[in-house]
Amino acid sequence: MERRAIAVQGVVQGVGFRPFVYGLASRFQLGGFVKNRSGGVLIEVEGDPRSLNSFLTAISERPPPLAHIRAISWESQPPRGDREFRIESSDQETPASIYVSPDVAVCEDCLREMFDPADRRYLYPFLNCTNCGPRLTVIRGAPYDRANTTMSGFDMCPACRSEYEDPGDRRFHAQPTACPICGPRLELTDGTGQRIETNDPISFVVDALRQGKIGALKGLGGYHLVCDGADQAAVSTLRARKHRDEKPFALMARDLDAARAICLVSDPEAILLTSPARPVVLLQRLPGAKVAYGVAPGNPCLGVMLPYTPLHHLLMHALGAVSLVMTSGNRSDEPIAYKDDDALSRLKGIADFFLLHNRPIHVRCDDSVTRIVEGQELSLRRSRGYAPRPVTLPCACPRPILAVGGQLKATFALGRDQQAFLSHHLGDLDHYEAYRAFVKDISLFEKLFAIRPLCVVHDLHPDYQTTRYARERSAAEGSELLSAQHHHAHMASCMAEHGLTEPVIGVTFDGTGYGTDGTIWGGEFLVGDYRKYRRMAHLRPVGMPGGDQAIREPWRMAVAHLRDAHSAPAHFQRQIQPQAFALIMKMLDSKFNTPMTTSAGRLFDAVAALAGLRQRVSYEGQAAMELEWLATNVADDAAYSFELEEVAEGEPAETTLLVDTRPLIREVAKDANDGTSPGNIARRFHTTMVEIIAAACARIRRSTQLNAVVLSGGVFMNALLLRETCRRLRNDGFRVYRHRLVPPNDGGLSLGQLAIAAALSRAESSG
Ligand SMILES: [Zn+2]
Ligand SMILES: [Zn+2]
Ligand SMILES: [Zn+2]
Repeated sequence: MERRAIAVQGVVQGVGFRPFVYGLASRFQLGGFVKNRSGGVLIEVEGDPRSLNSFLTAISERPPPLAHIRAISWESQPPRGDREFRIESSDQETPASIYVSPDVAVCEDCLREMFDPADRRYLYPFLNCTNCGPRLTVIRGAPYDRANTTMSGFDMCPACRSEYEDPGDRRFHAQPTACPICGPRLELTDGTGQRIETNDPISFVVDALRQGKIGALKGLGGYHLVCDGADQAAVSTLRARKHRDEKPFALMARDLDAARAICLVSDPEAILLTSPARPVVLLQRLPGAKVAYGVAPGNPCLGVMLPYTPLHHLLMHALGAVSLVMTSGNRSDEPIAYKDDDALSRLKGIADFFLLHNRPIHVRCDDSVTRIVEGQELSLRRSRGYAPRPVTLPCACPRPILAVGGQLKATFALGRDQQAFLSHHLGDLDHYEAYRAFVKDISLFEKLFAIRPLCVVHDLHPDYQTTRYARERSAAEGSELLSAQHHHAHMASCMAEHGLTEPVIGVTFDGTGYGTDGTIWGGEFLVGDYRKYRRMAHLRPVGMPGGDQAIREPWRMAVAHLRDAHSAPAHFQRQIQPQAFALIMKMLDSKFNTPMTTSAGRLFDAVAALAGLRQRVSYEGQAAMELEWLATNVADDAAYSFELEEVAEGEPAETTLLVDTRPLIREVAKDANDGTSPGNIARRFHTTMVEIIAAACARIRRSTQLNAVVLSGGVFMNALLLRETCRRLRNDGFRVYRHRLVPPNDGGLSLGQLAIAAALSRAESSG
């Protein structure tokens, strides 16, 4: 007989780890106990040494699907004669041990039950277990137990209760557990909210969808609007009713095979599609795929996800081969509806019927969106299934910190010690609803993780809602207030996810961010670390006529760049109304409502307009995305010209490298005027951007000896640019880091702000 005390560290709480250990101990006939403790679990077991070894191997090699074991260690102890194995109650919960799981796709065991006619949960769409089900979206407070979830209104029946209390059962302490006797129920209404009586709502929905109807479906984190993805008329109707012109819709495919019938799916993409997070994955569309053109007009990719709730499985199973459009339940760009009353009123006139249920959603949570670039994940929106899983910070927060993020694609982050708890996607905070969710969810996270921030960090932009919130809160509570420059925060977020602490060259290309000189930055080469940075190089500034209006109308940026480059291609001017053209020229001359910008995103817009792609966009980044699509299928043949020029800038004046893009603009204009295809222009432009980055980084390396480059900012959602930039810089001997965990766009800002604040706060406390 031997006794061992085994310490397991990592994400092992609230993920079914203790029942798993209990099951293993019973299998190997070991006595002892398991209990949660700060940072992990403690197991003490005794039995014969061979069984103990097998027990240890099984823990490390086949842990429950949601567990992430960081370390296991053990030591021998004198045997105590334990014959029974028991689950002991936790040590006093310390804040550092609190872990709240993201929502998890229904597991295989539950699915087997759901499709088993002999099971008491046969065809029951709300079953779950310790390994799966709703988590973040149903939590109302701490600690995570049933009374603090939206399941509190459902009293467990005796059968569910006995499973819940049985340490050997796979529903032991599964907080949202339910069955047809005691749990939530489906409800069906027509488009006006009138209840439709039926014993078989799934068949009703399947018939309606086959007839081209549009449905609203209550999911995990909000409502989806759904229709048959192959039905062009239904898709067009959905676009018209939703007031969404061209922004791509996501699709749900029944399974991996169904996804493979419409898209190319590589191995890493298949792993992402079937992962417990079940994100929307951008996949290359197959020619001839049975998908209506209107799902993603002009787009060579489709956003595809697999079913993740039991209800999705029931529905997709009954539908057969049909893929469903599954897009957020909202009108145009409003936040997604998640409360029943609100959904019924806001989606009235869009949905022909509603399939809902009586389990409330507490936290609105959009689907995550991701893609694979060079074999690795590139997160585009980190939300359901990922949040609030912590990211490890490179340096510990000396005190609890709240990072409030940006204004668009907003997220916030709470930091304690080395952990950063990143929120789900909150959307565009210009919408009052989204801002309200931001305030509400910050306070929920503070409760869930028992973090009371003593420091708040915000963007430099004075007009961001988040900046105002940070200032007001700090003033009211007397907490430390820090700010982080937008592109510095982008750079820091990429550094943080790679655990970098050394100084780096930060290439941050995005749409817009507030610069320290009051102009709009967005084509920046920074050098520094978390504590400080220097702006070493940037794109040549041009006017942005009409401010935000220039984002919606890329032709304005084209005019601004042409005027700057003293170029006046007849071909382009013919496409623009003469009065409008004259007005923009006048604005540029007088600088009226024309902020200066170095934005790389706006340069993409200008080139797209010059190439004749489009003069207006119906969603942000559309023109740049279309340039990427066009360029992707064209062979690399040439690059446009640019110049690097040393200038003295700032107070006190320092030498800065200016990337002169005027030659590029003149050559793009000439190409377009000569009738070169937009695809060739797009391809040459991408090559040029890679050349610009490589040239500027080489010059900066010469003067700083720095060899590490991080790539951040929304422009690096562009897979072609990201891939080629990485390859080129690696060939030039740089160590290159790109995003994998958090999005390169403003959704990643909060992590960067947090890393910066952690470093600055430390600087202050150490004097
Ligand atoms: Zn399950
Ligand atoms: Zn029950
Ligand atoms: Zn940005």
